[in-house]
Amino acid sequence: MGSEVVEKSGGKASFDVGAAAELVEGLRGAFAAGRTRSYHWRQSQLQGLLKMTEEHEQEIADSLRADLSKPEFESFVYEAAMLKNSCRLALKELKRWMVPEKAKTSVTTFPSSAEILSEPLGVVLIISAWNYPYYLSLDPVVGAIAAGNAVVLKPSEVAPATSSLLAKLVGEYLDATCIRVVEGAVPETSALLEQKWDKIFYTGNGRVGRIIMAAAAKHLTPVVLELGGKSPAVVDSDTDLKVSCRRIIVGKWGCNNGQACVSPDYIITTKDYAPKLVDAFKHELEKFYGKNPLGSKDLSRIVNSNHFSRLSKLLDDDKVSGKVVHGGQRDESELRIEPTILLDVPRDSLIMEEEIFGPLLPILTVTKIEESFDIINSGTKPLAAYLFTNDKKLKEKFVTCVMAGGMVVNDTTVHLAVPTVPFGGVGESGMGAYHGKFSFDAFSHKKAVVYRSFMGDAALRYPPYTSLKLRL
Ligand code: NAD
Repeated sequence: MGSEVVEKSGGKASFDVGAAAELVEGLRGAFAAGRTRSYHWRQSQLQGLLKMTEEHEQEIADSLRADLSKPEFESFVYEAAMLKNSCRLALKELKRWMVPEKAKTSVTTFPSSAEILSEPLGVVLIISAWNYPYYLSLDPVVGAIAAGNAVVLKPSEVAPATSSLLAKLVGEYLDATCIRVVEGAVPETSALLEQKWDKIFYTGNGRVGRIIMAAAAKHLTPVVLELGGKSPAVVDSDTDLKVSCRRIIVGKWGCNNGQACVSPDYIITTKDYAPKLVDAFKHELEKFYGKNPLGSKDLSRIVNSNHFSRLSKLLDDDKVSGKVVHGGQRDESELRIEPTILLDVPRDSLIMEEEIFGPLLPILTVTKIEESFDIINSGTKPLAAYLFTNDKKLKEKFVTCVMAGGMVVNDTTVHLAVPTVPFGGVGESGMGAYHGKFSFDAFSHKKAVVYRSFMGDAALRYPPYTSLKLRL
């Protein structure tokens, strides 16, 4: 069996510190024996991951529907297809990635040659979030396997159907001596965090990110933290209004109903342009989700009642009363909130203080669009920033002045699908990056190796350090 399944309903957790230590010891043994290092092993595991996703697409979509009412389109495209693409890319490039990189040497070591060897780190822990629970759990696993590591994956308990599917499928398709799934919540994750890992890769919020980093510090374990933040979208008046609106809508409500780390969190536009933008949003939203979006099958529900209450609180804040210009309907029994737009919200309202992570979209207005740069830079650095404009100078300024993990000009979220660029945050939105070769690198140690011959053994470096040697 490749998974440690804990009792979930009030029973005593069967996975404790002792079980975690035993698990890690077993994986360390397999790693030390060299099981994960060969090209053949890595290839076979990546093929297993690909096959598992291909053969269970419907089951994956069903579990995502159970956890989030995720529309099938989103499940197939943003979870299964994205994972399959990652596997295919890694399988295609793996040999090239594994080849040591030649490096130049300096005159001081002449004659010599040098290379950078990508060495697996050892046994790594991947802790994942609930919003894209299939893709976000397994995409880092692709990098960890490609780099030749043994892996423990801890999926999110907030998406329980997908978590148990992952435990079942990984156990069936992958090498259980080196790749394991541990299901569970805080107690199980805490037991895992007591162990010494060679890397911890965490996806989730910054509060828990701090817990992860503190636990990792005890063992000097390096971390990748894939966190969130308030990702802005700046809309200039010199833009294609319809296309801009559609692309914001698809990045916001079309991505798990705004429960996505790279969804636009808020909009900044000019005071003059805002009414046009709001009208265009209303028009396009109705085309996409109809007159009764609460009943739309194309929108995910809110993941659970805690998050529903959290979002309701943002909407019920006195400081935003009267600011809703579109939507605002909620159905608590079904955990549904319709696409909601708020205009001219004060910057000290709750909705502007924390990451929204849901279907609410506030719009801030400015007199000149360049004022948006200071607004963005005065907050914590976001995971993503978006700009919509035809203005070349504005694009240049935005790209150079605005700080963010990544950015897209004239679209939202699509940088996720470009494996040749790193995906990750900066500052409070995270540290480290992955995707494509960056995933392989995130789970590798870049070992410097210098080769010398016994020829040209200069006496200069050896004692006694005479004054003549000092003058040379
Ligand atoms: P979550 O509640 O699923 O938590 C993430 C993981 O942390 C889970 O596996 C959970 O078991 C574990 N965890 C929770 N509390 C813990 C504790 N006290 N100690 C140890 N482990 C604990 O997910 P979430 O945090 O609600 O996810 C949403 C956040 O994640 C948002 O901020 C979002 O922007 C961010 N996110 C970032 C990315 C990215 O790629 N950068 C992707 C998705 C989500």
